[in-house]
Amino acid sequence: MAETMENPKAGLPDAADMLLECKGVSVSFPRYGAPVSEALRDVSLDIRRGEVLGLVGESGSGKTMLSRAIMGLVPPPGEVTAGTIRFEGKDLGKLDEEQLRRMRGRDIAMIISNPRGELDPLQTVGQQIGNVLRHHLNLTRRQIRERALDLLKQVSIPDPQRRMDAYPHELSGGMAQRVVIAIALACSPRFIISDDATSGLDVTVQAQVLELIRSLVSERGTSMMFITRDIGITAHYCDRIAIIYAGEIVEVAGREVFFDDPQHPYTVLLLAAFAQNERLRRYWLGGDKVQEYTGPSPVGCPFQNRCVRVEERCRGEHPALLERQPGHFVRCHFPVERP
Ligand code: SF4
Repeated sequence: MAETMENPKAGLPDAADMLLECKGVSVSFPRYGAPVSEALRDVSLDIRRGEVLGLVGESGSGKTMLSRAIMGLVPPPGEVTAGTIRFEGKDLGKLDEEQLRRMRGRDIAMIISNPRGELDPLQTVGQQIGNVLRHHLNLTRRQIRERALDLLKQVSIPDPQRRMDAYPHELSGGMAQRVVIAIALACSPRFIISDDATSGLDVTVQAQVLELIRSLVSERGTSMMFITRDIGITAHYCDRIAIIYAGEIVEVAGREVFFDDPQHPYTVLLLAAFAQNERLRRYWLGGDKVQEYTGPSPVGCPFQNRCVRVEERCRGEHPALLERQPGHFVRCHFPVERP
């Protein structure tokens, strides 16, 4: 095992390769008569040009809050209370609302999991794609129609000419998701956030849509943050994987290293559950010491109430995110050693 380092720059790419850089980002929600609730704590994460980063975590772990912070859409009364988010070197926290609005859709786009909720039921598919093109690009009506049709072809919508004039309720779930992808791609953004984009779809349609997203971003050299609860999906679609737990990044590594040598106990638990491999869980994590879960702990390691490797140190000292090998970051006092 390489010696641990606390140098946050170690293993990072050149500044020119960096598209998005989150540094020490915290998001808090004030609560009446109670301490503030921290939805994100000290999140540092970078995304390189052309890279697909998988962000994995359970519901409420902070995945969606991070995407909202990047888009400048943290719901009030929540706010970014610390850290910086830079896109192509630009500090997004310094942009005004109008500048952020112009950036959304043109430079950074989002694909979410509920396409029907995203689409306007009163407008045709062609009108909705056209709205984005009209807002961000200086095109004639004819050019907009041609471009919208071309986008429907790119996302493999059957009979695209006819679908241009269809309303959302006339589309299947898979088709509606393809329309949302077409809208996200409309202005050729350099960065796409896919937030659990396929979770509501049938398994076969899910695989097709995932394949489509992956091939479209790799053809265009677009970077993507791929948010999911399903760690298995990241093995096929992501270059690098980050695990988030209770608002903190607990492990980040390139795909091969991540699956070959996972080191945070929570990552191992997720992988063992995905593989349905009880022997793996016991072997790596050392037995049956299953803890009764009582929520993330506010003091020490937030994972201590679920961790089978917990020691006294974990209860009093919050672990830092350390680079244990180049590019492999782990937040744990007692990382799992490969058997
Ligand atoms: S710091 Fe301790 S409690 Fe937290 S994940 Fe590591 S071993 Fe488990």
